[in-house]
Amino acid sequence: MKTIGLIGGMSWESSDLYYQVINRKVQQTLGGIHSCQCLMYSVDFAEIASLQHTGEWDLLAKKMISAAQRVERGGADFILLCTNTMHKVAGEIQQNIDIPLLHIVDATATAIQNKKLKKLGLLATRFSMEDNFLKERFQSKYGIDTIIPDEDERRDVHDIIYGELIKGIISESSKQRYLEIIENLISKGAEGIIAGCTEIELLIKPTDLNVELFETTKIHAEMAVRIALE
Ligand code: GLU
Repeated sequence: MKTIGLIGGMSWESSDLYYQVINRKVQQTLGGIHSCQCLMYSVDFAEIASLQHTGEWDLLAKKMISAAQRVERGGADFILLCTNTMHKVAGEIQQNIDIPLLHIVDATATAIQNKKLKKLGLLATRFSMEDNFLKERFQSKYGIDTIIPDEDERRDVHDIIYGELIKGIISESSKQRYLEIIENLISKGAEGIIAGCTEIELLIKPTDLNVELFETTKIHAEMAVRIALE
């Protein structure tokens, strides 16, 4: 089994999910009492979130590179960055390590292509919805178009992530707001929804929707296990 490297803590609520999904998948695949061989470097998210909101992406890139290098030195065979948003600096990370970074878009796009869908609604942080680093990779590498919510909807999606989900708060009213926003995306032509922030799947489940929900944490973590067991 290969050793999976994880850069976590963004937030730890979703890193917790990564750890569960990875271990369950290894156990299901190998049986018995097998579990995953992995190591995680987990950051203090307060510091990261503050730098994101003041736009200090160069400093964030340095911090992510340093975390990735620690994980590499620890013996990981490949790395997962356990957040969509920080993939804004995925290119810089990959340039500064010698092991592969499994990009969250590559994992998610493979799952979308398996369902033969072409136009997806993207729910994520403001950074991921408004910037191009995820959308552009979906489009140029996989021919998948993404549509994003309107301005006031994007604000609510973002605020619920940072104000609630990252703190482990799961609220029925926030779930209803997300479902309303999802309905609007479907009425604009979304054939499925990307939960493009690793905490969203704590709030919205596939059974809540009439269209396919692509849960980036689960998809990313399960692909890591397939690679680890190849
Ligand atoms: N986990 C979230 C994501 O997947 C947001 C936290 C962060 O900004 O890294 O984008």
